[in-house]
Amino acid sequence: MQLPFVSEQYVQVAVPVPMRQLFTYQVPQEMQAPSIQVGERVAVSFGSRKVIAIVMAINSDIDPIVDDERTIANKKIKPIASRLNDSFHLSDSLVSFLTLCANYYHHPIGDVFQQALPKLLRQVKNVDIKPPMVFQRVTVTDPVKAEHLVKIESKAPKQFALYQLISKHQGTSWAELRTLGYSKTQLNALIAKDLICEVKQQPHQFSWHKENLAQENKQVLSTEQAVIVSTINQTLEQFSCHLIDGVTGSGKTEVYLQAMEAVLAKSKQVLVIVPEIGLTPQTLLRFEQRFNVPICLHHSNLNDTERLDTWLNAQQGSAAIIIGTRSAIFSPLHQLGMIIIDEEHDSSLKQQDSFRYHGRDMAILRARQLNITIILGSATPSFESLQNALSGKYHYHQLRHRAGKSKKAKITLLDVAKQQMEFGLSGSLKHEISKTLARGEQVLVFLNRRGYAPAITCQECHWLCDCQRCDKPYTFHQKQQLLICHHCGSQKRVPRQCPSCGSVRIAPVGQGTEQLEQRIHEIFPDVSIVRIDRDSTRKKGELTRLLQEIADKKHQLLIGTQMLAKGHHFPDVTLVAVLDGDGALFSFDFRASEQMAQLMIQVAGRAGRASKPGQVLVQTSYPEHPLLQDLVHNGYQHFAKQALVERKQAMLPPFSFQALIRAEANYPSYPEKFLRQLTELDLINCQFAGPVPAAMEKKAGKYRYHLILQAKSRKELHVTILQLLAAITDNEWQSKVRWSLDIDPIDLNW
Ligand code: ADP
Ligand code: ZN
Ligand code: ZN
Repeated sequence: MQLPFVSEQYVQVAVPVPMRQLFTYQVPQEMQAPSIQVGERVAVSFGSRKVIAIVMAINSDIDPIVDDERTIANKKIKPIASRLNDSFHLSDSLVSFLTLCANYYHHPIGDVFQQALPKLLRQVKNVDIKPPMVFQRVTVTDPVKAEHLVKIESKAPKQFALYQLISKHQGTSWAELRTLGYSKTQLNALIAKDLICEVKQQPHQFSWHKENLAQENKQVLSTEQAVIVSTINQTLEQFSCHLIDGVTGSGKTEVYLQAMEAVLAKSKQVLVIVPEIGLTPQTLLRFEQRFNVPICLHHSNLNDTERLDTWLNAQQGSAAIIIGTRSAIFSPLHQLGMIIIDEEHDSSLKQQDSFRYHGRDMAILRARQLNITIILGSATPSFESLQNALSGKYHYHQLRHRAGKSKKAKITLLDVAKQQMEFGLSGSLKHEISKTLARGEQVLVFLNRRGYAPAITCQECHWLCDCQRCDKPYTFHQKQQLLICHHCGSQKRVPRQCPSCGSVRIAPVGQGTEQLEQRIHEIFPDVSIVRIDRDSTRKKGELTRLLQEIADKKHQLLIGTQMLAKGHHFPDVTLVAVLDGDGALFSFDFRASEQMAQLMIQVAGRAGRASKPGQVLVQTSYPEHPLLQDLVHNGYQHFAKQALVERKQAMLPPFSFQALIRAEANYPSYPEKFLRQLTELDLINCQFAGPVPAAMEKKAGKYRYHLILQAKSRKELHVTILQLLAAITDNEWQSKVRWSLDIDPIDLNW
């Protein structure tokens, strides 16, 4: 088919709107030179707005069938408003990767680009690029400065550590130093003494020198570790995926560091994705100490300029290592040679709203696209990865022992059904806590429920104080004397009287971390206690401060939610107590037991990491439950393999492929009818489950339903979803609901 106006130039662009299509614009004559490129950012008017769009195709590439050909014929095509013409073009490789992502998730392409770009590049104005500033050591020649240094070393150890870090690592950004827990005061003190100076970082492509590697920090690998590193080295420069299944402290990070060497030595970049950097500055420090190469960070605690700096450094190839959270997978990497996903099982790798992508899965897609190596590491691999490893799709490596001298902590189940409990603590647990504290060691008490109490109730008529918008009990926060709904965030004062019977006997039921802290303080009044959860660490920098206090042994008892289960090293913790091990045993979500097992093993991994042995005590009312028994006696791998057999029999993922369609509206009948109409479509290769009300049927005043779609192969799922999306436009309830699509859902419990 011939397009009219062959002499005219058209482009198809991705516009940041929730529509699954590209849009055609005309390129005015005066904007045609220099010639327009795929990946360029252009400003276009869309409706009444002016937005940034990405050029996806030019003239002859435009497929008249996909394109809105009628609009071309009708001459309704608008010209692009301007070309940004800066150095922020997206490479062909990045454009095709993001297109792959959009296709995989059936997500509007414009929104995928929107989420992949730093904020400053999404704004319709020219970005003025200043070279990023970094800190460097000033060579000490005069005796006065040398004296300063000696003084700092003895009087201000933290300042001295900062000085050493910057000296060993020429060119460190404030973002890195801040993430490592240093303060502006410490930095300014060094600048004032002229020991450190701030310089402009010159963009240049990083190239490797032998001196970039700090040989002295390298560990001599165990045989198990050495085999993994050499296998990985043999598979470089082709797509290969390695799963390292190794208990916490078994030396996975050391394997990453040594496997990266060969890639960096070719002057290629390495992308490292971790669940949360702010929570694990130790990991960043180890990369810094090993490699004196430019390292850039990508996480939520960066400001817009810092984000753009990382983006630019990655794109120009001046960053050798990029360490980031899930969205770092969309970085524009110039010369990517390897991807590492640490804690690959962690659910924070999946974005749970709007563009619901999984950082690990997209990383595998990208490694495949670029023909490079990807390493997944975890002490508790996801069932998906484990199945791929067991079936031979991935290289499977196990690290069975903890590195160095530390021994694996033993898990013991404490039967609490027949015990006297005091504030959620059994007698035998209290006894063990006392013994551990008496030895001068630290104890971690794990309770995955923040706040003071999960509910407030009337002791006479058992009225429960529910959030009207969610039909769920309010959580009581004692410190603020407030009831807060953890589902929608609404707050209210504690009622003085029961609205149902008028009684004043209103009291909290159950226990959250806030109450636990208070109770444990009553039991162990002389012990310093620290609580780590979302409430206690809301203030910026607070978490880093508390973690440092724990490392400095200022506290003996640590109380926390799952925040404490992630990647921290607490060398002096020798007892981990899990107060409620029963949470997930009876859930309807088939992933609940996988998640419970992962959490339990991860928390257990916090115990006894140094030379002292550790133990884990799990309180449960069902010590005979086969899941718990299997996990405790046979370990995670055995448990996981058993569970995989069950999943296979039930044809559940990873043996089948799912999509979840969520719908919500102000009336319960709308989402249900909307979804039911979808199930009436004639789709051969997929099965529907539902529609059913969501686990939280009502949230923030909205009624919620979902529908699960399941297929035997990914291709079948893909084809069906295309049919479904095409049919949704004709669904009569479509305009009355808000719906979303979640491919490979991991949380059915919404
Ligand atoms: P993981 O990432 O599996 O938790 P790490 O790599 O952090 O394990 O290793 C745990 C501890 O053991 C670290 O302090 C690390 O320095 C040390 N370690 C790792 N490998 C070795 C080794 N081969 N020899 C001695 N110590 C090691
Ligand atoms: Zn009452
Ligand atoms: Zn609510």
